[in-house]
Amino acid sequence: MVTAIIYSPKCLEHKTGNQHPERPQRLMAIMDGIEKSGLLNNNNIRMVRPKPASIENLKLVHESEYIERVKSICESGGGLLDEETQVSRESFEAARVAVGGALEAVRGVISGEFANAFAIIRPPGHHAGPARSEGFCIFNNAAIAAKYLIREWGLKRIIILDIDAHHGNGTQEIFYEDSSVLYTSIHEEPIEFPRTGFIWEVGEGEGRGYTINIPLPYGSGDPSFWKSLKTIVLPIAAQYKPQFMLVSVGFDGYYRDYIADLSLSAYIYPRIFQLILDFARGVCNGRMAAILEGGYNIWLLKRVVAACVAKMAGLTIKIKDKSPPINLLAQKEAEKVIRNVRRIQSRYWSL
Ligand SMILES: [Zn+2]
Repeated sequence: MVTAIIYSPKCLEHKTGNQHPERPQRLMAIMDGIEKSGLLNNNNIRMVRPKPASIENLKLVHESEYIERVKSICESGGGLLDEETQVSRESFEAARVAVGGALEAVRGVISGEFANAFAIIRPPGHHAGPARSEGFCIFNNAAIAAKYLIREWGLKRIIILDIDAHHGNGTQEIFYEDSSVLYTSIHEEPIEFPRTGFIWEVGEGEGRGYTINIPLPYGSGDPSFWKSLKTIVLPIAAQYKPQFMLVSVGFDGYYRDYIADLSLSAYIYPRIFQLILDFARGVCNGRMAAILEGGYNIWLLKRVVAACVAKMAGLTIKIKDKSPPINLLAQKEAEKVIRNVRRIQSRYWSL
């Protein structure tokens, strides 16, 4: 079975202006890196071009009036949907193609056509709620993909693991009272943006215990991120027994990314992919799809996505980079956070 790279140049047509961090150059760098890596010559890797998602599929998560509003602002030439989310005339179509990319990734994997898939799409999605855009996100690609797996394929347990440096407040909101999606996020302390994702946000009603937030202090670095995965995320995931692993992948935790401050190295991303792939092989037949969220350092994007796709196909591409500075104080604080999350989540899971 093949690893699918889901990509459409339509996603480049969502124009945000030269000053905006979430720009077409991000995907151009990723695709350039993949082309230069030689991965496309491998028989186990296939490029797939997604179609725009139907309005019906957008409605799996979003309210009709909101979809109409985005459409009409784009049709009238574009503008700001909110403080940070800029759209152009082509953005509505591009955003539908982004959702279509996430849908194609999960459809291909669940149907057994792909072993796994990486949707290289923009605009990103994890801050978008049912009736609002936020933080460069228009439609919630990962959430729509999860809803689609539940509705069309009858899945009952899906994990969305969000490793973007920011809390995926939109995704959390959509599944906050829902146990069929376990939302788990490791992110930087949300004291500034988006001000959600604290450890006591654990879900409500039917969804109580199915939201896991690990807010790490600024500068925590690789050891704290890794420990969060190994001592919280994977033990809970093993008990939840997901039928599908969706990964909201942002690369803005990288220490030279100017949007966030988690101090992660370039090396951690392929390692995280390997960890998730091994886990998915054990619990859900390897069914895993990665969906691109943030990540604004062009140098990194050009190298790291190819390295992660390689892992998905059972290959290795080495990255050469300097290691980030180590902040021992932040690491110590992170230990406390990890202990506290484990304490809170042990009400719902054996940890
Ligand atoms: Zn982010």
